[in-house]
Amino acid sequence: MNLSIINLVYLLASVLFILGIKGLTHPKSAVRGNVLSAFGMLLAVAVTLFDKNILSFEYIFAGIVLGAAIGAVLAMKIEMTAMPQLVALFNGFGGGASVLVAGATLVQASGAAPGLQFSIATALSGIIGGVTFWGSFVAFGKLQRLFLEGACSFGGQRLVNLALAVVTVGLGVYVSIVPEDITGYWVMVGAASVLGVLLTMAIGGADMPVVIALLNSYSGIAASATGFVLENNMLIIAGSLVGASGIILTKIMCRAMNRSLTNVLFGGSLGPGEKTASADDVYAGKVKATSGEEVAMILDGAQRVVVVPGYGMAVAQAQHAVRDLMNQLEARGTTVEFAIHPVAGRMPGHMNVLLAEAEVPYDKLREMDSINPEMSQIDVAIVLGANDVVNPLAKTDPASPIAGMPIINVDECRTVIVVKRSLSPGFARIPNPLFSADNALMYFEDGKKAVQQICEAMKEL
Ligand code: NDP
Repeated sequence: MNLSIINLVYLLASVLFILGIKGLTHPKSAVRGNVLSAFGMLLAVAVTLFDKNILSFEYIFAGIVLGAAIGAVLAMKIEMTAMPQLVALFNGFGGGASVLVAGATLVQASGAAPGLQFSIATALSGIIGGVTFWGSFVAFGKLQRLFLEGACSFGGQRLVNLALAVVTVGLGVYVSIVPEDITGYWVMVGAASVLGVLLTMAIGGADMPVVIALLNSYSGIAASATGFVLENNMLIIAGSLVGASGIILTKIMCRAMNRSLTNVLFGGSLGPGEKTASADDVYAGKVKATSGEEVAMILDGAQRVVVVPGYGMAVAQAQHAVRDLMNQLEARGTTVEFAIHPVAGRMPGHMNVLLAEAEVPYDKLREMDSINPEMSQIDVAIVLGANDVVNPLAKTDPASPIAGMPIINVDECRTVIVVKRSLSPGFARIPNPLFSADNALMYFEDGKKAVQQICEAMKEL
C-alpha cells in the first residue's frame, strides 16, 4: 500500500485516540471515548497489515491465535478483584514486547550500518522495556500476595540501585555507539531487568498505586522508543499518549497521597506492620460489634449518611446492594452520598467504576477533598470494606507505612459503622484504631450480605 495512504490512516487513528482519551475524562462520555479509541486501533492494525514491512501473514495469524487463546483463558479465570494485577502484567508484557522487537530489529540490522537515531532508540527500548517488564512482574507478585510482599529492602539498597542505574545507562551509551554488538544489548537488558526488580521490590505500604501508574507510563515510553526503531509513526504516537497519560496519572496519585514521586520511589516505606502498634494494643477489649437491626435503627434517625466504599466492596460485589440501600434511605428523606478516596480499591477509579455499574448517579460521588470539611456534619458514615483509606494512623503515626496519606475523616462523623468480615488489616497490613474508636461500631459480615440485612431490617421498622 502507498506510504502516504498508510501515514494518512495512522494520522486519522491518532486523532481518534486523542478524541477517545478526551472522552474518557468524564463518565458520561467515557463509553463513546472507548469506542472511538477502539475504532482508531482497528484502523491502525488493519492498515499495518497492508504494510510491506511486516512479517509473513502466517506468523501474524499464529501470533493472533496464541495471543487470543492466552487472553481468553486469562479473561475467564481472573477474578474482577484481581484486575489491577492483570493490568500490571499487561504493562509488563508491553515492556517485554518492546525489548524483543528492538532486539530482533537490531539483529536484523546487523551488517548494515544503522543510524544514531536507530541505535539510541534501540538502547532506550531495551532499558525502559526491561525495567517495565520485571518491575511489573514484581508489582503483580505483590498485588497477588505471591512474593515480596510489603516493602522489601536490604541495607545499602539505594546505593546498589544508583550504581546499577549508572551501569545500565553506561551500557545504553555503549549500545548506541556500538549497535553491532548484540551481546552488549542483552547485557544492558539484563542490567535494566535487575534494576526493575530492585526498584519495585522496595516499594510497599500504600504506594503501589503510584508504581502501577508509573509502570504504565514506562510501557508507553518503551513502545514509543520502539516506534523510532521501526520508524512506525503510529507506534510513536500511541506510545507517547500512553507514556504521557501514565505520567499525568502518576502525578495525580502522588498529589492525592501527599507524596513526592522521589519519596515514593526512594523513600523506602516500612515493611508490613513494622514499628507500628500491634493489633492487640489497638483493639483489646475496645471493639463494639453491631447487627443489621441495630444499624437499621441508627440509620432510621439519620439525616445525612455517607458511604465510604473500599476494596471489600469490590470483593463482596456489594455495589448493587448499596445502591438499593441508598434508594431506601432516600425514600425516607435521608441524604446519601459516597465519599471516594483516590486510592480506594486496587486501581485508580475502582470505586467509581463499580458504583457506575450499579447506576449510582455521578453527582452522589464526592471526592475526598470536597467531602472531608463536611465530615463533622454527617450523622452516620458506613465504611463498606474500606480500611487503609480511613485509618487515622496516617495522621498520627509517622512510623506507619501510610504516614502522610490523606484519609477520609470518618472518625469525625457522629457514628461510624464499619462493615467487614473481621479485624484483619487492609493492603498496608497495619491495625486501624478507627475500629476501636468510641463512635465506631463493627458489623462483622460480608459486605453484600451486611447491606442486604440492613435493607431487610429497615423494611421492618
Ligand atoms: P484495604 O485493602 O485497606 O482494606 C480492604 C478491607 O476490605 C480489608 O480490611 C478486608 O477486611 C475488607 N474485605 C475484604 N473482603 C470483604 C468482603 N467480602 N466483605 C466486606 N469486607 C471485605 O482497602 P482500601 O480500599 O481501604 O484501601 C486501598 C489500599 O490498597 C490502599 O492501601 C492503597 O494504597 C492500596 N492500593 C490501591 C491501588 C489503587 O490504585 N487504588 C493499587 C494498589 C494498592 P476483612 O478481611 O476483615 O473483611
